[in-house]
Amino acid sequence: MKVLRSLAALQADRADLHSRGASVALVPTMGNLHAGHLELVRRAAGRADRVVASIYVNPTQFGPGEDYAGYPRTPEADLAALEAAGCHRVWMPDDAAMYPAGRDRAVMLRAPADLADTLCGRARPGHFDGVVTVVARLFNQVMPDVAVFGEKDYQQLLIIRRMVLDLAFPVDIVAVPTMREADGLAMSSRNRYLDAEQRRRAGFLNIRLHELSQAVRQAAPDYRALAERTRKRLEADGLEPEYVAVRRASDLGEPGPDQVLRVLAAVRLGPARLIDNFAV
Ligand code: AMP
Repeated sequence: MKVLRSLAALQADRADLHSRGASVALVPTMGNLHAGHLELVRRAAGRADRVVASIYVNPTQFGPGEDYAGYPRTPEADLAALEAAGCHRVWMPDDAAMYPAGRDRAVMLRAPADLADTLCGRARPGHFDGVVTVVARLFNQVMPDVAVFGEKDYQQLLIIRRMVLDLAFPVDIVAVPTMREADGLAMSSRNRYLDAEQRRRAGFLNIRLHELSQAVRQAAPDYRALAERTRKRLEADGLEPEYVAVRRASDLGEPGPDQVLRVLAAVRLGPARLIDNFAV
C-alpha cells in the first residue's frame, strides 16, 4: 500500500496505473476508520483493479460551532486498517493540496437546493456545498472509474449522484448498505463522542426508525402521523430528534402511494449528532 501525500505523487501514480490499463475505485473518507469504511474498501476492490482511499477532514463541510477541530484524527490506526483491508493507495492531502488558493478564495460548488435544503441540510446550512466541493476535487485529483459511498449518509449519496450526472463526471457511483454495531446502531466516527449511558440510548435510533419503516410498509398512508409518533418515541427514549421523515427514496420528495420510500432521522444525543435511515 502506497501513501501519497502530495498531488504530484498522486498524479504520477495515477498516470502509471493508467498506462498499465488498471481501473481505479475511490473511497473518500474523513478518517477515524471503522468497519463501515473498511466494507466500502472491500466493495471497491470488487469493482476495480486498484483501490484508492482518501483521508481528509474537509473544513468546508463543517459549520461554525460544529466539531471540525475536535473531529477524531487517527492516521496511524487508519493506515494499518486500510492495509489489512486490502487497500492499494491512500491519498492524504493537506489543506494546501485541497484548497490551493486558500479557503476564502476557493471555487466552491453549490449543492442543488431541492436535495440539499432539507433534512440534514436544514440543520447544517452549507454542509452539502462543502461535500460536493471536496468530492469534485477528489474526483479530479484521483480520476477514479468508480467511487464508493455509504447509504448511511443517504442524502449525501443522492447529492453525489446528482453532481456526477450534472457535471458529467465519468465515474460510476456504488452505494454500500450501512454497517451496524451488534445492537443495530449505525457505525460512525461520532459514536465515540458518547458515554456509556448515551451509547445505550443511541441504540433506540435504529430500532424506532426500523419500526417506522415497518409501519409505512404496512401501507398506512398517513406518513406524517407515523413520523410524528416515531419522534415522540425517540423523545421518550431520551434522544432529541432533529427530524424524522418519510420521503421518496429517489429524490427525497414528499411521499405518495406506489412510490419507493425511505425513512430518515437525525437526533442529538449529548455531544453527538447521529443520523440513520432505512429503506421501506
Ligand atoms: P465519513 O468518514 O464519515 O465521511 O464517511 C466516509 C464514507 O463512509 C461515506 O461514504 C459514508 O457514507 C461511509 N460510511 C460511514 N459510516 C458507514 C457505515 N456505518 N456503513 C457504511 N458506510 C459508512
